[in-house]
Amino acid sequence: MKCRKCGESAVIELRRHNTAYCADDFVAFFRHYTVETIRKWKMFEKEEPILVAVSGGKDSLALWDVLTLEGYRTTGLYLDLGIDEYSKGSRAKCEAFASERGAKLEVIPVIEEVGASIPEVQIATRRPTCSACGLSKRYLTNQAALARGFAVVATGHNLDDEAATLFGSVLRWQEEALSRQSPVLPASSPKLARRVKPLFRLTELETAAYSFLRGIDYIVEECPFSKGATSLHYKEVLNRLEAHAPGTKHAFLLGYLDRIRPAFKRGQEVTLRECIRCGQATTSELCAFCRLVDEVSHKSHTISGPVSAGA
Ligand code: SF4
Ligand SMILES: [Zn+2]
Ligand SMILES: [Zn+2]
Repeated sequence: MKCRKCGESAVIELRRHNTAYCADDFVAFFRHYTVETIRKWKMFEKEEPILVAVSGGKDSLALWDVLTLEGYRTTGLYLDLGIDEYSKGSRAKCEAFASERGAKLEVIPVIEEVGASIPEVQIATRRPTCSACGLSKRYLTNQAALARGFAVVATGHNLDDEAATLFGSVLRWQEEALSRQSPVLPASSPKLARRVKPLFRLTELETAAYSFLRGIDYIVEECPFSKGATSLHYKEVLNRLEAHAPGTKHAFLLGYLDRIRPAFKRGQEVTLRECIRCGQATTSELCAFCRLVDEVSHKSHTISGPVSAGA
């Protein structure tokens, strides 16, 4: 198998593009594809400061790497979820990545903002771990962006993530989730940063290959709470379809974004107001994050006396 660009031996075959690349040309393809995505979807301009949400995994570190190489002004944001060895390991990967490149990394321990680590939140509130974690991540990332003057937050979601999310929403016809599915979520309130996903047209395999070829040291272990997640089953199904017909995931997602989403968007306009406690955008009087902090604080008082919560 030969590289389409230079004719040398290829290291990766991209069946959905009916092509193959050597290491250097694949890295160049990946960078170009990301920059083209940012441009076509009007995600951000070259001079805008970007807050990159990093988890220590291959996708977010690959994104941070591309943006740095392409000369964007980036700062990394790592939320320490307090998930034992997984959090220690993933934080170390982010810190090493930043220090090797002289990049700026902000670290926010969730325990200081919520009053408990993510595993403790689950025990205190009995909410599903990933739901409390997702809510905290969205809120704290947005809060960090606003407090530090970033208008844009970039995340490392890839094509597999986005196609699996869409697949799940379609299976249950979740209209609200369908209306929100987009690689660019504009700031619909002065209290919300724009959220963008520059890798949304690149597959998980491609981000893994890019990270490997660029020598990025990322955490290979998945979060222990991801085991058995429904989204992993959706990814398996989509991978089988993709193996049978390369390009299926891309066509599924891009077809939805181009042709179907506008209809959902029209019907799902919501009015946002400011949370009476923290001031962030919400649809109710007290935002979901402040309610979560209250629940954790209440349960902690009941069990063992007062604990401090920073939010
Ligand atoms: S899998 Fe882990 S990191 Fe992801 S939402 Fe669930 S608890 Fe949070
Ligand atoms: Zn080549
Ligand atoms: Zn609030």
